[in-house]
Amino acid sequence: MVKSMSKKFNEFIQGDSGDLSINRLTEIPNINSPQPPGDISTWFLGTRAENGAEFKELIGKAVDHIIEYRQTYLPDDPETITPEVKSSPEHRAGMGALTDAYNKLLEYLREYATPYFSMRYQGHVLWDTTLPGMLGYFATMLHNPNQLTIQMSTATTLLELLVGKDLCAMVGFPSNNEIEPWSHITAGGSIAIIEAVWATREMKFFPFAAREALKIEPALLKARNIEVPIVDGSHPKLLEATSWQLFNIRQDDILTLPQRIWDLCGESEELQDVYSVWDLLLKRSLNGRGWSAMSRTCFQDVGDLKMITSSTKHYTWPKAMASLGMGTDNEIDLYVDADARMDMKKLEEALAECLENRNPVLLTAAVLGSVEESAVDPLESILELRETYRKKGLEFNIHVDAAWGGYLMSMIRRDYKFAEQNSPLFIDDFSRVPCNEHTLRQLQRIRECDSATIDPHKMGYIPYPAGGNLYRNGQLKNLTIYAGSYIGATQSIRPQEPSVAIYGLEGSKPGARAAAVFLSHQVIRPSVSGYGKIVSQSMFNTKLFCLRLLLMATEQDNFIMVPLPRLKIEREGSNGDKESYLATLRSSLYGKTQDEILADPEAMAMFREIGCDENILCYAFNFKRQDGSINDDPELFFKLTDLVYDRFHVHYYEDGKAEDIHKYRFFLTSTIFQKSDYGPTFIENYAKRLGLSKTPDSIKVLRSIVMDPCVSDLPDGGSFFDEIIETLRSNVTEIIEQNFR
Ligand SMILES: *Cc1c(COP(=O)(O)O)cnc(C)c1O
Repeated sequence: MVKSMSKKFNEFIQGDSGDLSINRLTEIPNINSPQPPGDISTWFLGTRAENGAEFKELIGKAVDHIIEYRQTYLPDDPETITPEVKSSPEHRAGMGALTDAYNKLLEYLREYATPYFSMRYQGHVLWDTTLPGMLGYFATMLHNPNQLTIQMSTATTLLELLVGKDLCAMVGFPSNNEIEPWSHITAGGSIAIIEAVWATREMKFFPFAAREALKIEPALLKARNIEVPIVDGSHPKLLEATSWQLFNIRQDDILTLPQRIWDLCGESEELQDVYSVWDLLLKRSLNGRGWSAMSRTCFQDVGDLKMITSSTKHYTWPKAMASLGMGTDNEIDLYVDADARMDMKKLEEALAECLENRNPVLLTAAVLGSVEESAVDPLESILELRETYRKKGLEFNIHVDAAWGGYLMSMIRRDYKFAEQNSPLFIDDFSRVPCNEHTLRQLQRIRECDSATIDPHKMGYIPYPAGGNLYRNGQLKNLTIYAGSYIGATQSIRPQEPSVAIYGLEGSKPGARAAAVFLSHQVIRPSVSGYGKIVSQSMFNTKLFCLRLLLMATEQDNFIMVPLPRLKIEREGSNGDKESYLATLRSSLYGKTQDEILADPEAMAMFREIGCDENILCYAFNFKRQDGSINDDPELFFKLTDLVYDRFHVHYYEDGKAEDIHKYRFFLTSTIFQKSDYGPTFIENYAKRLGLSKTPDSIKVLRSIVMDPCVSDLPDGGSFFDEIIETLRSNVTEIIEQNFR
């Protein structure tokens, strides 16, 4: 039964079969569909709850559904809350207490909860969640499925497998007879990253596990002469290879070792199938033997194992190094360039040094993109450099941390069906995509990397928690299987009941979050006609906002405003006149509607290069002194940023109470760039543009996250940004008058 079920299921998720029969279930909802009708106006509740009536009805359906489900499941079973119980005073008092407490919670939320859905909210990495996301979550939560085992999540494990498939298809990981990608939903990007680093670590040491197993397992005798392909082109025998060589084998070659050993050994009393070979190797893995035993045999002629990241990496990366025992000292943190992208010269130097000192490199993490500077690392150059270093004998994985930016894929991802394996992945013409060329080029290369983090609860607009861990080669997941027999699973890669939980760090995990992503992906496909519309609009709006910030300060104002992203002419290093460039921006773009900009190819080309790589914007004010010169004192600049930030974030008092949230007219965040983290290029460049005399050790900026796809699209043709800009202007003007004049 189990066997035929997984076979059928596998067929289903491969797209070969349109439906699935499990017992009575004849069909499960299908994600294998083109984009259904709908747009931004149907996908959200609305800033002013404009779709409130529809939402209420749809949520009501879930409540009706759960009542009906309970009433019709074996209806002859006894009722325990009888009419007598229900009419008793105790029962009524209890219900009254529940209602009181509930009302108080609702009142409390009304008072204190962040209005994250508002046009005025640019604070943190969230905005409104999709209607299908909320509905999928709510309806499924009423069933409380736990993805730990399919026995507790008969419906939702399948949904998570489908969603995983969909995420892989969004980035375009190739799927063929040899390599099948895999992905699952996690509690968030942090967990997804730690899982991916864990699996990659196990993979890196897997040749050593194979070596141990070959040495001591009589069953593997016939494979003792097996050779391994080293990236430098040599093919030593596994048992004779040096540690350095074993550390420098490609992931895909490592993951075929069990199959190759099985092919050589064949069936015997100890070996029934290739899974028995996996079992023997996994027993000798780093997970099995632990660091001390492993290092005695692996690190004789090599230095410490390194991981490479850049300044803009999320703080989970050192956490991954720490929790996996690799040590934060072994993280090589590269400085960034003036656009906050990984400095390729620094990467080259780091790799050369690793090669020279024989430090194996686990992986290089590319950020796509960062949630502070909104920068996308140059993935294409990293891939290229890897090819160069492979020839020199150094191998490493590439992980794309697209926790934030992954859904940008949908702006260029053609509408698709799973069945269309060979159709082109990307749209032909990017000229109307409101995103710079750099980012679009990197997005197209994610599919060549080894693993990725893409969080539905970030730019997928899904309610928390929903992160995504993606492997280009799904075999990677086999290296981190843990299961208890009571969940009906075994700690083996032998086919068993479909599961999404045995491969990850988490234990119990909600099926509701998988259903949320599932329903949202079904209604809003992660391609140009679906998520592409939302994400493009949010990018468009970020650029409009950036344009307004660029043109905000006039001669009369007592401040200057400097967005962190450089102008195109500054990026290109041309010494073109900044003022005349801004004047061109003003005349070509300012005050134009979206349709007007889109209709004018030249204006659109200029517009696409405004701002940063994604939809987050850092910026800062500096003040003019009485004589009109610009303040050059970093301390005073810092003070100004603090005072501005102070007006736009929620304050907490010592008694634990927050200030009245309803009085805030605009929400943003602030962040600090330390020179020690980012390196001199980035800091010096920005300090200079801000007019600061000496380069400070750090720069404090304001940060807006523009996820709102509606903010610039008001019915009167106007933009809500004008209101936001005016709010900023009046506050900043006043702060400067009061404090610096
Ligand atoms: C948000 C984010 C993370 C962490 O994800 P969580 O869901 O907060 O755990 C990691 N990396 C990047 C680039 C992110 O944007």
